[in-house]
Amino acid sequence: MPEFLPKELEEFRADLLDFLIDKVNLSSIELKDACLAKGIYKIPQPIEYGGSDAGPLKLAVCYETVASAGISNISDVIGPAPGILSGANDDIAKNYLYPMLRGDKTGSFAFTESDSSNPTVATWIEGDLRITGKKSYVSSVHNSDFMSVVLNVKHNDNSRPSGQAVLVIDTTTDGVVIGEPFVSLDGSAHSEVTFNDVIVSSNHVVGAIGEGIPRAIGGILKERLEQAAIATGMAIYAMSLVAENLMISHRSGGTLGDLEGVRLRYGEMRINTFATRATLYRAARILEKDQDSINEVTSAKVFCTETSSSIIDSAVQLVGGRGLINGHPLEVIYRKIRSMRLAGGATDVLRLSVSKGALEFDAGIL
Ligand SMILES: Cc1cc2nc3c(=O)[nH]c(=O)nc-3n(C[C@H](O)[C@H](O)[C@H](O)COP(=O)(O)OP(=O)(O)OC[C@H]3O[C@@H](n4cnc5c(N)ncnc54)[C@H](O)[C@@H]3O)c2cc1C
Repeated sequence: MPEFLPKELEEFRADLLDFLIDKVNLSSIELKDACLAKGIYKIPQPIEYGGSDAGPLKLAVCYETVASAGISNISDVIGPAPGILSGANDDIAKNYLYPMLRGDKTGSFAFTESDSSNPTVATWIEGDLRITGKKSYVSSVHNSDFMSVVLNVKHNDNSRPSGQAVLVIDTTTDGVVIGEPFVSLDGSAHSEVTFNDVIVSSNHVVGAIGEGIPRAIGGILKERLEQAAIATGMAIYAMSLVAENLMISHRSGGTLGDLEGVRLRYGEMRINTFATRATLYRAARILEKDQDSINEVTSAKVFCTETSSSIIDSAVQLVGGRGLINGHPLEVIYRKIRSMRLAGGATDVLRLSVSKGALEFDAGIL
């Protein structure tokens, strides 16, 4: 328990852990129902939608605790947040945001473009936008009702607004082609999405044209803190699995925990878990106070996912071959943490953006 948490968050964490202890093997639906009844599921949602409007620090506690309890499908415990749709116009709120928060619709996020020859652009046709291009890695889009798409609105004079924007597009709109889903190492499914002259009302622009990147970054920032918290919780969970394993009798005669070489490695893992946790909570506190803490939150995402990855790798090593058997808790988190070093921004690309923030915009504190 980070001793610098306010008392009510310490109690919240202890209560949440206690609640989750016997929920690890529930089905998705059972877990979601139990979390709805407990008031956890809507925790990231504003009070007016039945949530508790939790800030970054409480959310960090929440995500870390759920992952530390060994629950890998975290979205069954903590439901959707407004994210990139925060502050959208009434139409988008009524037709997409509220139904998503109620659980009646699901959305996905389309940002990544691997194929630079076919960028996603929109051009004006009277009051509507015509979209062409391709997104390469859209998670769960085959099961989504709509996508929040980051694209470039182009116009050859100043008579219409242009620039980066976020546009809400129904997955069933004419001209939207969703490719066959492919599954990544962590078990999640994604698709390529092609836009063939898709016509969408300009009323579907979230916020203003020109603020697409800041809006995407705002959503991504919360997601990065969430990933840092989940990575930290996974490291704590891995440590508990290792500690258990070090206490049982081993063919060497005693227990693995008796061996000095093993203790050295275990000590290093604890030190790294301590540093990961300290980084997470420092970044969460900074974000709680300052919405422009992109450098600190990005640093935490990189540090927590990379360090947790090395801790989980060592955990597999200490537990031995059993830890790699399909379905073993370490095998599951080993695959998941690997993906988290790319999803939400590749580690090296984020290192570059931290450098850019510091050197060109004087952003971030040490
Ligand atoms: C599980 C998972 C879920 C995902 N979900 C989504 C989603 O829902 N929506 C979405 O839009 N995307 C999603 N993605 C895609 C993810 O955002 C990208 O994979 C990630 O941003 C990296 O982009 P890329 O794959 O195109 O790799 P690239 O950008 O090609 O980078 C590959 C590597 O090249 C190096 N590199 C790249 N650029 C530079 C540079 N400028 N300088 C130095 N080195 C560089 C880095 O080492 C980097 O790791 C998901 C990915 C995963 C793994």
